Amino acid sequence: LLPNALGEDGRPATLGVMGGGQLGRMFVQSAQEMGFVTVVLDPDVASPAGAVAHHHIRAGYLDEQGLAQLMQRASAITTEFENVPAAALLTLGGQRPVAPAADAVAVCQDRDAEKRHFRGCGVPCAPWALLETAEQLAAVADELLPGILKTARMGYDGKGQIRVADREQLAAGWAELGGVPCVLEKMLPLQREISVIVARAADGAMVNFPVQQNLHRDGILAVTQVPAPDVPEALQQQAVQCAQSVAQSLRYVGVLCVEFFVLQDGSLVANEMAPRPHNSGHYSIDACDVSQFDLQVRTLAGLPLVQPRLHSSAVMLNLLGDLWFDAQGAERSPPWPQVLALPGVQLHLYGKAAPRPGRKMGHLTVTAADAATARDAALQAASLLG
Ligand code: ADP
Ligand code: MG
Repeated sequence: LLPNALGEDGRPATLGVMGGGQLGRMFVQSAQEMGFVTVVLDPDVASPAGAVAHHHIRAGYLDEQGLAQLMQRASAITTEFENVPAAALLTLGGQRPVAPAADAVAVCQDRDAEKRHFRGCGVPCAPWALLETAEQLAAVADELLPGILKTARMGYDGKGQIRVADREQLAAGWAELGGVPCVLEKMLPLQREISVIVARAADGAMVNFPVQQNLHRDGILAVTQVPAPDVPEALQQQAVQCAQSVAQSLRYVGVLCVEFFVLQDGSLVANEMAPRPHNSGHYSIDACDVSQFDLQVRTLAGLPLVQPRLHSSAVMLNLLGDLWFDAQGAERSPPWPQVLALPGVQLHLYGKAAPRPGRKMGHLTVTAADAATARDAALQAASLLG
């Protein structure tokens, strides 16, 4: 698919995306920069991506008419969230190139399938058990406790997770999660968290972003630093190799992020993966010559991939809805003029109308010629934001 060209049907080359959140918005913005026409399918009238795309189909993800309209408009289709119903991707995939494909997305949608895939690739992950029945609950090995109970599907930003110390809490936690299929993971002693984003083309060519070091608060990503300041080179190489082998064995086409734990003994363990660009890669818009969204566009359109070059040190700060409220709970506007007076700060807001605690409203990227300068400006920005 060539940017700015007419397709076989005489329509301009159009890229489609399932889902209209901030990831879809940044995909659309990259695609538009390159001259593509864009179409978003999302039921939300106020969808961040729908607001900037050429076309917004307001329909549910399984709505037949909506899917038909998307296929009619778009020459190729991607997804911006992993919980797109597999049936929708299968329908779309029957008539249009869909990347990533339904079967790869399905692996990422299910924590048990995901861990089995990691294990199959020789990539270490936390000891775990699948809980679907009372028998499986009774048979849980003692060595998995204390652990974290996670719903097998649909969890994100720490939602659908309960920390359990013993069997009693495990049984109560599972009931609290509604008795839906879950995985119980052993609680691991984390030293830090990192992630790796790879992009893979249909011909198998693969490129990757540098290792990102991530700090989470309350299960939500708060800060990403690149280059990863505290991760030995050998471990970084191991993480990149793991992510590559995971993508390769899925015959993945698109952008894939793998999250890892570095344990206190210095070893590497894969946590989970996302079949799309990732919050920990947002810095790439400002600090790399090609961003994760640019590469999502290229993989979808079948354009060449190039290894991204990090041209600046970067610190990314997530902006959650909490920043829009003062200590008394009254709504306020964060002090953007002061924040933007700092050198190297780029503000990205996603156009979401209603701030809510824990809701991702935007992010800040601080770039600088060296890591210490980026870190200092990020600390100043964080203290202004309170
Ligand atoms: P989500 O899909 O919500 O991002 P994750 O599985 O990534 O779910 O878990 C969120 C966070 O919880 C992780 O980034 C990590 O900080 C912590 N966490 C998850 N699993 C474990 C574990 N087995 N041991 C220790 N901490 C964990
Ligand atoms: Mg996670």
